[in-house]
Amino acid sequence: MKGFELYEPTTVKQAVDTLTKLGPKAKVLAGGSDLVAGVMKDWVEGAGMPLPSALVDITTIPQLRGIKVDKTGATIGANTTLTEVVESKALNEQFSLVVQAAHSVASPLIRNFATLGGNLNQRPRCWFLRGKEFNCYKKGGDFCFSVGGDNRYHAVIGGELCYIVHPSDTATALLALNAQAKIAGPAGERLVPFDNYFIGPREDVLRENVLKPNELIVEVFIPTPAPGTKQTWMKLKNRQVYDFALVSVAAAFTVENDTWKDGRIVLGGVSPVPYRATVIENQIKGKNIKSGIKQAAAVIRTVARPMSMNAYKVDIAQNMVERTILQALG
Ligand SMILES: Cc1cc2nc3c(=O)[nH]c(=O)nc-3n(C[C@H](O)[C@H](O)[C@H](O)COP(=O)(O)OP(=O)(O)OC[C@H]3O[C@@H](n4cnc5c(N)ncnc54)[C@H](O)[C@@H]3O)c2cc1C
Ligand code: SF4
Repeated sequence: MKGFELYEPTTVKQAVDTLTKLGPKAKVLAGGSDLVAGVMKDWVEGAGMPLPSALVDITTIPQLRGIKVDKTGATIGANTTLTEVVESKALNEQFSLVVQAAHSVASPLIRNFATLGGNLNQRPRCWFLRGKEFNCYKKGGDFCFSVGGDNRYHAVIGGELCYIVHPSDTATALLALNAQAKIAGPAGERLVPFDNYFIGPREDVLRENVLKPNELIVEVFIPTPAPGTKQTWMKLKNRQVYDFALVSVAAAFTVENDTWKDGRIVLGGVSPVPYRATVIENQIKGKNIKSGIKQAAAVIRTVARPMSMNAYKVDIAQNMVERTILQALG
C-alpha cells in the first residue's frame, strides 16, 4: 500500500477548494473499493498516470448521500451505496433498470460500500494498464499492448489507440435511462447528460470522462420514464460469481401496437464508453418488434471492428440485444 495524505471535507465547497489547492496530485475518494483496494495498493505509474499523494474523502459530506423521487424523476446522491440503490423501493417501482444493473455489480460485500459516483468513475480494468511492465498510451506511453497481445476482453466498437471497455454497469443503465450527472467545480455546478459524460480514446486517451481534476459528481438525475416504458437489463459474465460484463445490454423503450415507438439500447463491455446502439434503435423504430428485432440486432455487425481474439463478443452482443428486447416484451 502506498502512503497518502487524507483530507475529510464536510461540504462540497470544501472538497472542491481542497482539490483545487492540491491540483492533480489529489484524487477524490469515495468507498475506496477501486481507488484504495485496487489502485493505491499497486499503483501503476506513468507520465499520464502519476501516483496521487493526497486523497479527498467525500464520504464525510452528508449531503452527497440519499435517494429522492418525485414527479419529475429520481435524484441519487453520488455517495449513495449500490446496496442502497438496490434496496430502494421507490427506485424499484419506476427505475428498475438502474436497480438491476447495480444488483449485478461485484458482490454484496463490495456493494455495501461501493458508491454510485465511484462506480461511474472507476478506472478501466485492462490487464496491461494494471500491470507494471506495460507503459501503454493510457499511462502516457506510446504503445497499446492489447493490439498484439491477449485482447479477448477488449473493445469491439470504438477502440482507437486504446481498446479498453468501460467497466461500469450502472453507467450502461443510466445512459439507457437518459440520465444526467450534476458536477460541482470551482465555477459552481453544471449538468452533463451521460450522452456527453464519457470520453473515448479518440478525444483524450488519458481520461474516461469530462471531469477535471478539481470536479466531482454530486448527484445523478434520472427523468421519470414515459408511462408504460419497458426497462430491462442483461449481463453476461465469464463466471457465475461476481465478475465484470463480457457484454451487457440495457434497454428502455415504449411500445405501441407491438411496434417500437421510442427508446434506447445501450451495450456495456464492448466499447471504451458505454455504447448507445443507435444503429439498432434506428433500424427497429416504427417496426413490429417481434418480427423485426432479429434483423435490427444484426446491424451491430456494421459498426463492430473486432480484434484478433474477441470476435465472439460481436455474436454475443447481437444475440443478447435480441434476447433482452424479447424478454422485456414478456
Ligand atoms: C472484485 C470486484 C468486482 C467488481 N465487479 C464489478 C462489476 O461487475 N461491475 C461494475 O460495474 N463494477 C465492478 N467492480 C468495481 C466496483 O463496482 C467499483 O470499484 C466501485 O463501484 C467503486 O466505488 P467506490 O465508491 O468504492 O469508488 P472509489 O474506489 O472510492 O473511487 C473510484 C474512482 O471514482 C472516483 N470517484 C469516486 N466518487 C466520485 C465522485 N462522486 N465524483 C467524481 N469521481 C469520483 C475516484 O476518484 C476513483 O477514481 C468490481 C470491483 C471489485 C473489487
Ligand atoms: S487497451 Fe488501453 S489501457 Fe490497455 S494496453 Fe491498450 S492503451 Fe493501454
